[in-house]
Amino acid sequence: MDCLFCKISANEIPATVVFENERVVAFEDIHPQAPTHVQIIPRKHIATTLDLGPEDRSVVGEIFEVAAQIARDRGVADDGFRLVVNTNTAAGQTVYHLHLHLIGGRSLGWPPG
Ligand code: AMP
Ligand code: ZN
Repeated sequence: MDCLFCKISANEIPATVVFENERVVAFEDIHPQAPTHVQIIPRKHIATTLDLGPEDRSVVGEIFEVAAQIARDRGVADDGFRLVVNTNTAAGQTVYHLHLHLIGGRSLGWPPG
């Protein structure tokens, strides 16, 4: 399958991996928008949030758990951080493999642009 994040998950494209297990991979964003910008993905190819099914409930919970642990490890948890999932064009989704952005280490404006 021609999917960038599947290739990262399979080690076919290099990435700076910060966490991995059988179900989840987390790696540094190649174009960070903040001092901490990590992508947390399920290894399973799920294109968007609209493609989630009941069988994905557990891995969706797990990517949030992993994100929270990375935020603690990076020391951005107490100050605060943002978890973002862009869905489809208007939200700016560019990679069609579900990913949770962990963004932290600076003040973040609200509402987002
Ligand atoms: P989105 O706009 O929500 O689809 O986010 C895609 C994210 O993937 C962007 O923040 C990109 O900077 C990031 N990205 C694209 N290619 C790579 C790559 N090869 N390694 C790490 N992050 C990437
Ligand atoms: Zn994929």
